[in-house]
Amino acid sequence: MGKVAIVTGGTRGIGQAISLALKEMGFTVVANYGGNDAAAAQFTADTGIVSYKWDVGDHQACIDGCAKVAAEVGPIDVVVNNAGVTRDGVLHKMSFEDWNDVMRINLGGCFNMAKATFPGMRERGWGRIVNIGSINGQAGQYGQVNYAAAKSGIHGFTKALAQEGAKFGVTVNAIAPGYIDTDMVAAVPAPVLEKIVAKIPVGRLGQASEIARGVAFLCSDNAGFVTGSTMSINGGQHMY
Ligand code: NDP
Repeated sequence: MGKVAIVTGGTRGIGQAISLALKEMGFTVVANYGGNDAAAAQFTADTGIVSYKWDVGDHQACIDGCAKVAAEVGPIDVVVNNAGVTRDGVLHKMSFEDWNDVMRINLGGCFNMAKATFPGMRERGWGRIVNIGSINGQAGQYGQVNYAAAKSGIHGFTKALAQEGAKFGVTVNAIAPGYIDTDMVAAVPAPVLEKIVAKIPVGRLGQASEIARGVAFLCSDNAGFVTGSTMSINGGQHMY
């Protein structure tokens, strides 16, 4: 059995592509998800990748969930913090709940999963943590103070934890995707999306598999000298 990798939000969208890419590399992959039981069941039936349901924004649920995975599958060597939500709105209309949900799930989830798994990786002398940030955490985005703050926090979290893991064989990196063709982006109103695509130099949305290939590299032994980095995969949008 290969090393064990867990992908949060690993049953749909970008996470699904990441789960498949890591499986192809030989990892024993476990996919966490938040609530869509039908999608998770279908994914497991199609791929054989087992799925575990818990809210990554719930600290104790992450501790308990990862302990269960370790007991049932094996010690966790790779974590991809991919689970994320949007609750968009301009600040003067954004509720505290919309702020808090996004901070708790998108940024809090990274802390919770790292607390549950990083000590074991450190002790065993090998580990990979990849956090999915966003171009909107680098550049900001109208109507997304919550999301941009959480994703920007992920980029800082990555660089700080990378320093703690470096001497122990644990690398911590981030990927900042641009706009990727998933359910999350399908929720963006068409006229807004058209304007966004017009600003992407390659002239199209990205595919989930294009993010997954970046994650796969960062999780490989070839990437042992890469830590604390943020890989921009966004069709060149970060240049504008
Ligand atoms: P989707 O909405 O398609 O999928 C989100 C996944 O996260 C689902 O599997 C969902 O589970 C899971 N999830 C949501 N909330 C929780 C929770 N509280 N606990 C556990 N799992 C949860 O999103 P994408 O695939 O588009 O996005 C994946 C990541 O990439 C996110 O972090 C997003 O912010 C980031 N990103 C996406 C971009 C894009 O253009 N799509 C651009 C930049 C970054 P369930 O199936 O149960 O609902």
